Amino acid sequence: MLQINWIGANPGNWGPGRTRNGIEYQPTAIVIHIMGRSLVEADAYYNTPPERRQSDNPRHNGAPPSSSHYGIGRRGEVHQYVKEQNRSFHSGKVLHPTWPLFEDGSKPNYFTIGMDFEGLTSDVWTDRMMVAGAMMIADIGHRWGIAMEPLNVIPHDALNSHCCCPGPMCELDLLIAMARDL
Ligand SMILES: [Zn+2]
Repeated sequence: MLQINWIGANPGNWGPGRTRNGIEYQPTAIVIHIMGRSLVEADAYYNTPPERRQSDNPRHNGAPPSSSHYGIGRRGEVHQYVKEQNRSFHSGKVLHPTWPLFEDGSKPNYFTIGMDFEGLTSDVWTDRMMVAGAMMIADIGHRWGIAMEPLNVIPHDALNSHCCCPGPMCELDLLIAMARDL
């Protein structure tokens, strides 16, 4: 078993429970992200209240709430920010989704688990982060009954085709195959 280090996140960056309009959702998919920063920076970013984050626009304070359930470090570390029964705010806006299972009007944070990998879109993924990510995908998949298939382990840009996440260095098919083979 992997060691999972509990980090937590600021309450402004996640939501309790998975119930929306009286419907209690369960995770049915895992969404793969790139952090765009280091693991240490992600720990700090998710623990910073959204209103205190540095904004790209100097006339506005803050940045949108965001978090992930898990962060996978380049040395294979696993950090957990949000419990799986709660919603991490990882999906952001849905824009021209290409995920075949997406239903119009649905809110992916209610039925997905977010997994964030350390680094920039241009960084080559390390073997250790691939192995740790595969182990986490397999573990989550077994516990929630999520198939280790491309339909259920999806890149963030399948929900927002305008973003480039997790980017060209993510070999998602290989990651899924590694999870399946464990
Ligand atoms: Zn993303």
